[in-house]
Amino acid sequence: MRAVLMEKGKLWVDDIDSPKPGKGEVLVATKACGICGSDLHAAKHTTDFVQTSIETGGAFKLTTFDPVVLGHEFCAEIVDYGPETDKTHATGQLVCSIPVRLQSDNNHLAVGYSTETPGGFAEQMVLSERMLLPVPAGTPATAAALTEPLAVGYHAVMKAQLQGDEAILVLGCGPVGLAVITALKAQNVAPIVAADFSSGRREYATTQGADWICNPAVEDPFQVSELRKRKLVVFECVGVPGVLDDIFTKAPHNTRIVVVGVCLQTDHMRPLVAINKELSLQFVLGYTPKEFTQSLHAIADGTFDVGGLVSHEVGLDEVADTFVALADPERYAKVIVNPSI
Ligand SMILES: [Zn+2]
Repeated sequence: MRAVLMEKGKLWVDDIDSPKPGKGEVLVATKACGICGSDLHAAKHTTDFVQTSIETGGAFKLTTFDPVVLGHEFCAEIVDYGPETDKTHATGQLVCSIPVRLQSDNNHLAVGYSTETPGGFAEQMVLSERMLLPVPAGTPATAAALTEPLAVGYHAVMKAQLQGDEAILVLGCGPVGLAVITALKAQNVAPIVAADFSSGRREYATTQGADWICNPAVEDPFQVSELRKRKLVVFECVGVPGVLDDIFTKAPHNTRIVVVGVCLQTDHMRPLVAINKELSLQFVLGYTPKEFTQSLHAIADGTFDVGGLVSHEVGLDEVADTFVALADPERYAKVIVNPSI
């Protein structure tokens, strides 16, 4: 099958053996798979990424320097069943799955981050039958492929345990920030102020439901008047060194900070600043299986408005160039890889 391989930042299309479904497993054809910031991190900072995975584990760990097929935000079609499967769904059924391939020894494999388990930037994948979620009829594969990234945003919003009397500041309007805004909007949370240096991203934030947008180069987001009347909750969706200390410095007393952005590097912040203001810091990761299922259904029934989230659809041949191009935030929101293009 055709697949995009990644080795230490280099990406290329190759012909590799199709994976074979084992006991309890299903062979699927990838229909759509989103490019995630973590994929870009894994390619750009392979050494840091592998080192952090080995040191701390976590859900999306890459522990090898060998070539891998990335892609964990997918929607696929059932092609064939392996042995000892229930075959609940017909072949041809569109499915999503948490990107985890179950193993009998409980050492589960992360789909798209392991040499044994190719991800969605390939024509075919093997998934665990128990993890399959049928995509409700009428939902296109490109929309269903957003289940994973939107579940990340939804989980962050759930973890914030909003009471309804807060004002929200979303810092960073890349795919993660946009997922957070989409999930906030679905819960009628207001006001939502979104800040990003990129005008393109600020426009996407407006489409997804931000009530006010702010260019931090011109205006300090923490000074936006709509934020100063209520308790503040900040969603940090940038993930680069220095952002947390900047939030500590500018946030008002008792601000709650939800850290969704993934910063791989060692960061520096001054706890005393946070102590003086009694700030709360909540780090979040991934989603629960229930949140993943809810995310798929929210996309299918329109509760999550994803119409404006996908900016580009590309074939396998374009993945390498797209990884480079995604460094420019102006033109891109979510990019979906479609192996049949
Ligand atoms: Zn991801």
